[in-house]
Amino acid sequence: MSNMQQAGAVVVHGGAGAPKENEDGCVLAARRALAQLEANGDALDAAIIAVTTLEDDGRFNAGSGSALGLDGETIEMDASIMDTRGRLGTVAAVRDVKNPVKLARAIADTPHVMLVAEGAQRLARSLGMPGGAPISEHQRAEHRQIMKELAGAVPAMPGIDNRLFDRFWNYKTPLQLPKSSACDTVGAVVRGPDGHFAVACSTGGSAPCLLGRVGDSPIIGSGFYAGSLGAIAATGIGEHIVRHLLARTVYGWIEHGMALDEALKRGVDLFPKEVAIGLIGVTRTEACAYDNQGMPYTKMTQR
Ligand code: ASP
Repeated sequence: MSNMQQAGAVVVHGGAGAPKENEDGCVLAARRALAQLEANGDALDAAIIAVTTLEDDGRFNAGSGSALGLDGETIEMDASIMDTRGRLGTVAAVRDVKNPVKLARAIADTPHVMLVAEGAQRLARSLGMPGGAPISEHQRAEHRQIMKELAGAVPAMPGIDNRLFDRFWNYKTPLQLPKSSACDTVGAVVRGPDGHFAVACSTGGSAPCLLGRVGDSPIIGSGFYAGSLGAIAATGIGEHIVRHLLARTVYGWIEHGMALDEALKRGVDLFPKEVAIGLIGVTRTEACAYDNQGMPYTKMTQR
């Protein structure tokens, strides 16, 4: 790892296909990340504070804004952190935790890299982490919208037949059917002034989804990756992203000398247009974002 001093940089996104009017949330998150970089220069702390800010915002599909499961009650969340100091932690299908990204950070200190479901929730409790916020009207409205879409003929999750959710239904309560799939996960990539890189992601998962579903966000190399040349975070439907090991694939192109903006574009272009995909990245010299259907994001550099 280079110990060359350089300007720190932050890129934060609020989810592929999510409304641009939520971009102010990304701006606040990036400002807090830069302030954290000023305070201790740790790229990972900065990425985590950015993602925590968006988990607490309530408009994004992460933390307190997480998408409800199809039963209209269950919330299962995934999160991840990774940096070039060797810290790697991920959590999947965890319930009732306010800030899953902080839990992912705590898991990096355990003997493991990933904890799921009840074990993860029990660790959060034993560390004194607060439980999730009560379900908001925003979350209920998103859920009603998904149920409406699921009842229609157009796939609520692009590329997936709506009838499969009925066929494989695994929630405790029966399916009760009455626009757009929820896909507004959050993520941050950071270049520290000391040349270290970090990434953090958090999501309520994509909607619609079956109980126990895990997407790309906690899967190393799919939803996130950090190495000595940079950090990458992906957003979009995990079932499509994992098939391309997207974050590691994009990082590989950078290793081969491709410019970051070109690598992000090439990564997004792997997918058909109807699949919303977004990528953010930082390298030693660049900080970029690219998407195919709009994505709230912001990038900031230390002066
Ligand atoms: N990648 C997330 C997932 O599939 C969703 C998103 O990025 O919006 O869980």
